[in-house]
Amino acid sequence: MNATDLLYLVRDNPTLFDAAPVDVDAEAMEWRRNEETHPCRGCGSRARCAVVAETMLGLRWLDLCFRRLHEVRLANS
Ligand SMILES: [Zn+2]
Repeated sequence: MNATDLLYLVRDNPTLFDAAPVDVDAEAMEWRRNEETHPCRGCGSRARCAVVAETMLGLRWLDLCFRRLHEVRLANS
């Protein structure tokens, strides 16, 4: 899934993504990417990054590999 589709998906179907805590901080993001194992939502390889997306249902985790993170940042700017 490319970055643009991924951004539409998290916006339109936030229930497909894990809820992030409302008080999520840098420490929580580091924990998720280093101490937990999640697949990249774009390509399925191990996610090395975790970002938080604001959705109509609150904050959701968006787990990404480095490549998809870069693409999402470009698509989101
Ligand atoms: Zn990926």
